[in-house]
Amino acid sequence: MTKNDQASASTKKISNYITMIVVTVMALAAIALILAANLYYSGTTATGSTQSGDYSAAGVLAVIGAIALSMSSFTLLQSRRQISEMKIEIPKVMTTIGCSSVGCDAKTVREFQRGDFVYKELDAPCQKCSGKQMITAIYKEVKDKEKKYNV
Ligand SMILES: [Zn+2]
Repeated sequence: MTKNDQASASTKKISNYITMIVVTVMALAAIALILAANLYYSGTTATGSTQSGDYSAAGVLAVIGAIALSMSSFTLLQSRRQISEMKIEIPKVMTTIGCSSVGCDAKTVREFQRGDFVYKELDAPCQKCSGKQMITAIYKEVKDKEKKYNV
């Protein structure tokens, strides 16, 4: 499994979650609209005369349904866009490993692994002098595109 697969899998999980919420909201909105239509028609046909109470209730339900429907579809569009942007902007966390032996300047950089912390001593010996290896730095890989913060 490559890193890109992992990233797309995690974004897929998020998009599934958002889609689930949006579909639920859409279903509720549809129920509200159906209820509004029911109230509207039953208000006129059941008694033959118009009932003002049913009309206002139908109006409120219709408005709620319409707002929920438009908001959920807007969220869906927005999240699709954000997820496609997110895919590109996942910053990598890197770990720098140095040798603790005096005079040895062996240095390796690898991707951050769970349990890494600065000054952690590693079991694997230095490839140059077989001395003890130690994590010297953990940092987020900064891309050129990323905006700089002025202090
Ligand atoms: Zn060394």
